[in-house]
Amino acid sequence: MTGRRMRQWLSRRWRILGHAGVRPFYRGDPRPIVATNQFSMLTSIVILPYALILMAVLWPDLVSPALVLLGLVGGWMVCIFLNSKGLYLVASSIALLLPILVLMHMTQYFTTESGFHYMLFAGGGLSFALFKGDQWLLRVAFIVISVSALVFCEAMFPISFLHYPVSTTVIDGLRAINIALTVLLLYTVGRFDLHYYERERRKNVSLLESAQVAAQTDALTEVYNRRGIAPILSSIARRGEYALALVDLDRFKLINDRLGHGAGDVVLANAARTLVRSVGDYGTVARWGGEEFLVVLPGMSLVEADALMERVREDMEAEHGAPDSVARVTVSIGLAHAPRYAGKEEVLRLADSNLYEAKSSGRNVVVSARLTPQEV
Ligand code: GH3
Ligand code: MG
Ligand code: MG
Repeated sequence: MTGRRMRQWLSRRWRILGHAGVRPFYRGDPRPIVATNQFSMLTSIVILPYALILMAVLWPDLVSPALVLLGLVGGWMVCIFLNSKGLYLVASSIALLLPILVLMHMTQYFTTESGFHYMLFAGGGLSFALFKGDQWLLRVAFIVISVSALVFCEAMFPISFLHYPVSTTVIDGLRAINIALTVLLLYTVGRFDLHYYERERRKNVSLLESAQVAAQTDALTEVYNRRGIAPILSSIARRGEYALALVDLDRFKLINDRLGHGAGDVVLANAARTLVRSVGDYGTVARWGGEEFLVVLPGMSLVEADALMERVREDMEAEHGAPDSVARVTVSIGLAHAPRYAGKEEVLRLADSNLYEAKSSGRNVVVSARLTPQEV
């Protein structure tokens, strides 16, 4: 196995084991479950060689502390198994409680001089990673338990308590290792919390963005809906002269009657695509109602807007208006131009009455007008 394949294999295992217990379609927050599994794996990887070295150093006396550490690794494996069976709360509680008990036990063996109990400092931070926000009672409980265990160790197991034949060199060595492990543990816990917090935050931001886009977009035609165009429409008058065009598909009801509503939908979506392409960067298209679109054209004179909308009408006719087609679609357009600060309601009303005129004058035409000074 090459180095790269080995890394891929390992990271796959890491992911699979980390997600043990996060079932397909799991709707809750998987963060604490994954955190419990990853914590169990990470710490096992560190503790396992530690236990073996300790066993070698103490051999043949006092092998039991090393065995206790090995037992801890076994306990964490049990936690991953429990998680995979869906028993998340039991797993997280054991994953936290076991090391607290083991650390107290190790302190009893080697006294506070060995520094095992320093690692209890990390209990609070870990309880934040391994339990969910609404399980705050468990979080608080484990903070209290780890702090009490720390105080208990300090009070009960001073160096004078040492009952076993352990050399001071071993105790000093253990202290150095345990201080390093405590720093590593605190760092890891901090990274755990930060990593998940960051990921959660990024997920929320992207969820919010896609929800906003969805709320402002018409699902069928993929242009803005009324809600989406509203802010653009509100701000347009402040930026100078502008024009609004109402674009309505001609005799669309006939298409539905002939081809059915489903095919009508496809025709409508295609027409919207042509409309967007034809308007291009000059304006913004929104679905205003059933088969009616609003085109907002900022900074345009009446002549320019009229020329653009005439081109839109021609493009529509060229792409969808073949006279012999059963899905023949043309558009009638009511265009209204307004000077700066003209209220959008007036301009819309004018565009609407122009559209009405376009329809009554035979359809497939553009009717345009500017607001008269009295109307503004
Ligand atoms: P006119 O030229 O006067 O505008 O005639 P028209 O048939 O287009 O106008 P009318 O208002 O009588 O009918 C509009 C039709 O558009 C009726 C409605 O079923 C159809 N329609 C509106 N929204 C949709 C839609 O989302 N999908 C489909 N397939 N049809 C729609
Ligand atoms: Mg119509
Ligand atoms: Mg209509």
